[in-house]
Amino acid sequence: MLLLKITAPFKLIPPGACSILNPSAIYANNEVSLEEVDIYGFDYDYTLALYSNNLDTMIYDTARDFLIEHFKYPEGIHKYDYVPNFAARGLHYDIQKVNIDGHTFCVCNRFASRGLKPVPDEEVVGLYGGTHHVPLNQDSGFYGKGPKMKQFMDVFSLPEMTLLAVANDYFISNDIEYDPVHLYKDVSEAIGMVHLKGFMYKWITQDLEKFILSGEPTRAVLQRLVSQGKKLFLITNSPFSFVDKGMVYMVGQNWREFFDAIIVQADKPHFFNDCFKPFRRLDSNGDLQWDKINSLEKGQIYKQGNLFEFLRLTGWRGSKVLYFGDHLYSDLADLMLRHGWRTGAIVPELIHETKVVNTKQYALGLTWLQALTGLLERMQIHRDPESQKVLQEWMKEREELRAVTKNLFNPQFGSIFRTSHNPTYFSRRLCRFSDVYMASISCLLNYDLSYTFYPRRTPLQHEAPLWMDQLCTGCMKTPFLEEMALIR
Ligand SMILES: [Mg+2]
Repeated sequence: MLLLKITAPFKLIPPGACSILNPSAIYANNEVSLEEVDIYGFDYDYTLALYSNNLDTMIYDTARDFLIEHFKYPEGIHKYDYVPNFAARGLHYDIQKVNIDGHTFCVCNRFASRGLKPVPDEEVVGLYGGTHHVPLNQDSGFYGKGPKMKQFMDVFSLPEMTLLAVANDYFISNDIEYDPVHLYKDVSEAIGMVHLKGFMYKWITQDLEKFILSGEPTRAVLQRLVSQGKKLFLITNSPFSFVDKGMVYMVGQNWREFFDAIIVQADKPHFFNDCFKPFRRLDSNGDLQWDKINSLEKGQIYKQGNLFEFLRLTGWRGSKVLYFGDHLYSDLADLMLRHGWRTGAIVPELIHETKVVNTKQYALGLTWLQALTGLLERMQIHRDPESQKVLQEWMKEREELRAVTKNLFNPQFGSIFRTSHNPTYFSRRLCRFSDVYMASISCLLNYDLSYTFYPRRTPLQHEAPLWMDQLCTGCMKTPFLEEMALIR
């Protein structure tokens, strides 16, 4: 049977499919009722305080210059400026093979890069023993760090990945032999110096307006929670003087009055597993006190400590506590797996990703991609030469479409949530370690504090989609959010 070429994807898009996602929505992996949540906890960096992209460029520039000045790397690296939007969160770096890769669970993604250039799929397969498989013992481990692979998970790691790519690019394009393991360690140390030497804290506190994105929503969220009788706490790894300046800027001089407990330099993720490190109190000058801590008092600042002591002193246990953080491992994994608090992930990339999903170009590409996949699946039984020729054309078109839709998110690595057709490793971890996720905590302002988030029921591979998801609010966020906006 001769298959006909179909070229009318426009008619396949469901009416109103574009612009249905609202970047201010909160998405649920598990059912969460805010009615049951009495205590709200927060991380600070990239949770209460969101930073502008200027910070990435400054971290990159300083670390690059440090690499040249202190580790004596070639001066030629200096000519590489920061490349915004090159890297993406959740990517893996193969320390020995110097690939940056967004691989899914134990399966290498087909979008890999060496230096600043993409690596052809056949070459990636060749590097991993002829398959897309990465053995578990080479993988990145529970907190994203393995002997051969590192997963970059925090927002600060974007400049680190870019510097690694740039330095590799310099050596490879100039045909200079180098040890990639040394390079990985040196770049990691150069980035670490930006943090350890306090550069970042200094830049931000000297120009809060330049680096901190609008603080007004943060103040509004805290105010709303407190006015409705909720208890609030802060657990951050940052030092008090830094947090204090940012919070005064965003929330006001009286910011401490919003919180029932404030823990700084907590050393997460160890904070969640350590049983011995006691809390220490800081006085109003930020100096450490020697007294034993028998209670956590409102308005006081505490340093270090551990979660077991925190639970003993506060009694804040289980699902009445909801903790928000941006780092899936350091902030959320232990809380979800070991301690039973509810968790909320802050994923600022949702703003860009939902913007792309809402474009007509994406809707068209994805609809046609799915239609082609369905056609291929059904029509593959036709083995005559003419039909096989059409099938080959469809396969080629499907590959091209896949690249086009991927490039809309990020030309090198695509969406942080999907690699080809499957969820990325980042996505799987996000689903496992967070009950809800959102672009910023300001999304909370769209919902009543007795609201229940229901996860969308997506059919498993063996299930038939027997329900009309289009009728549920989980799919149609926009009209529902418009109604919720009245609460503001
Ligand atoms: Mg953070």
